Amino acid sequence: MRIKSQYCKRMPVNKGTTILYENAFAYVVKLAVRDERCDHCLHSGKLSKCSGCQYVYYCDRNCQKESWPIHKAECANLKRISPKIIPDAARLMARIIIKLNQGGANEVGYYCETKFRKFKDLMSHYSDIKKDPKRMEHFISLCGVLLEFLGEALMPNTAELIGIYGRICINSFNILDLDMNSIGVGIYLGASVIDHSCKPNAVVTFEGTTIIVRTLIDLPYLDWSQVCISYVDLLSSNNERRKELYDSYYFWCNCERCKQSEPMAETAVCPNPSCASPCLIENDKCDKCDAKLSEDFKKTFHEITDFTIHHLGKMKTMAYLDVSKICLEKQKDILHSFNIQHIRTLDTAFLAAVNLEYWEDAELYSKQLLPGYLLYYGEVHPLIGLLYLTMGKIQLHLRKLKQALEILKKASAVLTITHGDKHPIMREELRPLLYQAIIETTSNNNHNDIV
Ligand SMILES: [Zn+2]
Ligand SMILES: [Zn+2]
Ligand SMILES: [Zn+2]
Ligand SMILES: [Zn+2]
Repeated sequence: MRIKSQYCKRMPVNKGTTILYENAFAYVVKLAVRDERCDHCLHSGKLSKCSGCQYVYYCDRNCQKESWPIHKAECANLKRISPKIIPDAARLMARIIIKLNQGGANEVGYYCETKFRKFKDLMSHYSDIKKDPKRMEHFISLCGVLLEFLGEALMPNTAELIGIYGRICINSFNILDLDMNSIGVGIYLGASVIDHSCKPNAVVTFEGTTIIVRTLIDLPYLDWSQVCISYVDLLSSNNERRKELYDSYYFWCNCERCKQSEPMAETAVCPNPSCASPCLIENDKCDKCDAKLSEDFKKTFHEITDFTIHHLGKMKTMAYLDVSKICLEKQKDILHSFNIQHIRTLDTAFLAAVNLEYWEDAELYSKQLLPGYLLYYGEVHPLIGLLYLTMGKIQLHLRKLKQALEILKKASAVLTITHGDKHPIMREELRPLLYQAIIETTSNNNHNDIV
């Protein structure tokens, strides 16, 4: 899809500008939501199974018809290997192989009026992948699945397969729903040009399977070599992000944020109650008040950190409120309030409380979570907008109308930049809540006047 030409010329680009809006070259619905999402448009709702393979689901005949050019090559194969399931990476690889066979090698993804990329232009990190034992092990197991699924005739040679696999590893995007949950994986030719920074100036959101790239700050003009998104979760320490980026993308990040020291991400809280400064656990005393960090204190810090990491790992697919509460109780007076593990625990507790509709708990955790979110994600980030939105929703439930209205206005300010006015999250979620908050605040005020 072409984009507006003005952004390629030397004109200022304001924050909250859509600089790329692109359809996927290839994508698949995530296995975990295969029976909850349409295989074509990724919407949820009432779905029907494909009568051919009995494997994929569609909203209706329209979605099935639009998907057929790619699905027709999968359908009979999915039926043949049933009840086996195909891992996401194998299915995406298969779709790319099918697509390249159908002339997809010539498909172009424009990222501005005159510049575009083809699938072959995507970086494959061929030699890095070949030297990476973990990736090669994964690759070999995928090849086994692919051979069984596609059959010998469709299989490219090993070098081509590694090239495709590498391009997927390095360039694929998680396709996110409105709540930023991952529901699919896709390859976007134009968007693959965008580099990484842990302090990004642009952000990616989705409308169905379409990727949207928007600016988070004002830019003097659009220079694609200066546009950066984050490839990793920003709620993490310098060490964690740099390792994840190296392991996944084969580079050591040297961005502005990585070069700065990080005083709080892995710290304890000073044992002196009247100080509350962050303390590096390797030190012998607090930098600020000289309070001693005893061996017992250090041991407890390490034990609680390990305990938290262990339980957060176990709660990756399902957040439990009782477990989160135990972790938070143990962390009290030991982990600093900006310690990453503490903020992740609050995040999990918040999510669990929302799922259980325990609104008082959810509100409490959201308020404790916000300062950490702002520190690590920055003031303008989709997850900040979503946190404000959920806080507003909770406060409406709790009839805290004035606070709800205030926080929903904040959500609007952030989401207008990260998602834009016309995005479904504004239309379907924020505006109805904002409207409700305004109506109820006004009628409440009138009611109070009368009383
Ligand atoms: Zn659909
Ligand atoms: Zn089918
Ligand atoms: Zn960085
Ligand atoms: Zn201190």
